[in-house]
Amino acid sequence: MPHPDPVSPQAYWQIGQLPRSAKPLLICDVDEVLLHFMRHLREFGAERGIGLHKPIYKLHDNLVELQTGRMLSRQECSHFIQACFDTIVSHQDAVDHAAEQLAALSAHVDIVILTNLPGDHNRHAREQTLRSHALPYPVITNTGPKGGAVAELAKTRRQAPIVFVDDSPLHLISAQKAAPHVTGLHFIADPELYQHAPDVDGVCLKSNCWVETGQQLKEIFGAA
Ligand SMILES: [Mg+2]
Repeated sequence: MPHPDPVSPQAYWQIGQLPRSAKPLLICDVDEVLLHFMRHLREFGAERGIGLHKPIYKLHDNLVELQTGRMLSRQECSHFIQACFDTIVSHQDAVDHAAEQLAALSAHVDIVILTNLPGDHNRHAREQTLRSHALPYPVITNTGPKGGAVAELAKTRRQAPIVFVDDSPLHLISAQKAAPHVTGLHFIADPELYQHAPDVDGVCLKSNCWVETGQQLKEIFGAA
């Protein structure tokens, strides 16, 4: 069996700066969970004649020149993704009802935001955008699969329920391997992506609605 994904040094250091706590914990992704991403990416791409080849949350090897059908090279994809993040990070729309559901939960649980964000220089803008949408929770920036960071966050809270919400099957499966006691919740805000997203075994819910998700979380955390 492959080893669980390790925590990146960058995420490990940031997690060490959080106050120690034994409270229940909600770990929440940003793009397609708290903030919309695909709608901004489509808009950014359309202005440049670039679109997704397949309607899945995969950017590398999945970007196409709309007029010619030419697939972008990996390097072109990397440039496009970085330029897209740099452009949209300060004005991404919030997903409906995310802020109110998290605010209600925050009376009972600690909330930490775990995000893979291309470019450290975008961290401040991301925090500001989240705060502007009433999502003022600590942000941990990560690179690669998130299992190691989830396990590190969960380390001091063995007795309390912990839930990890993400749109990416890669991160949910990585968390299952690294921290099997953490409950996964699969949330995908974008309707097209939601429709095409593969089911992930072992998650407690697959949803595109924060009211439904908030109810499920309240039940898990005993905060209903
Ligand atoms: Mg995401």
